[in-house]
Amino acid sequence: MVLAEKVSKNFGSNRVLRGISLKVDPGEVLCMVGPSGSGKSTFLRCINHLEVVDGGRLSVDGQLVGYRQKGDKLYELKLKEAAFQRQEIGMVFQRFNLFPHLTALENITLAPMRVKKISKAAATARAVELLERVGLADKGDAYPAHLSGGQQQRVAIARALAMDPKLMLFDEPTSALDPELVGEVLDVMKGLAKSGMTMIVVTHEMGFAREVADTLVFMDEGVVVEAGPPRQILSDPQHDRTKAFLSKVL
Ligand code: ATP
Ligand code: MG
Repeated sequence: MVLAEKVSKNFGSNRVLRGISLKVDPGEVLCMVGPSGSGKSTFLRCINHLEVVDGGRLSVDGQLVGYRQKGDKLYELKLKEAAFQRQEIGMVFQRFNLFPHLTALENITLAPMRVKKISKAAATARAVELLERVGLADKGDAYPAHLSGGQQQRVAIARALAMDPKLMLFDEPTSALDPELVGEVLDVMKGLAKSGMTMIVVTHEMGFAREVADTLVFMDEGVVVEAGPPRQILSDPQHDRTKAFLSKVL
């Protein structure tokens, strides 16, 4: 589903990604950990083309991100076309980013109606279903300000799912939550993983990674230092940098 081959990204002279290669098969969950500034968010942003890579190849579902292939020629996508490609990828951020002036239900129906031109009735029916799935069946009419952080984040997940993404990207989805609210969001993500969703999750929740991830990637200074089954990486890290990082977070 996701194939990164020697992906590099610079911000000026700052070489943020220095040849990231990894693969996520359909239905797999990849968790990514690493120190602050190691390039995790930048990598996620490259996958959905919020950043343009400077080198290497990055493809989602067989399509080169930011390009369209015609015969053996590649065409760079225009902004609007890139937005179309991005529709297939759901993203959930640390901050919930719900529209404050819309109810939970309206937050979820907005993009399907505007972007996919789905009727209000159909979008609402689907939103009700999704709210139920994230355990918020009774909160459809609530505004974000009246929801807890954990509830807002679950609405944000439902909103991403409403676009029927092939891939979900999570960037530290529980880092901004009070500790007692982390579990309810992780539970929704676990359910999503069980349902077969392909996911890349940047997180420091090692318990989640151990339980849910097929692959755990440790990233540092723009490179993949170590990757493998989470149990193996967590119990028997091979590199000093991985050991040092894990000793701080475990
Ligand atoms: P954190 O754990 O703190 O979220 P991260 O691993 O997600 O860190 P990134 O946000 O990807 O790290 O940042 C990697 C590096 O790229 C940092 O040095 C950051 O300052 C730089 N960077 C990120 N975005 C930009 C940008 N738009 N312009 C310039 N530099 C940027
Ligand atoms: Mg980040």
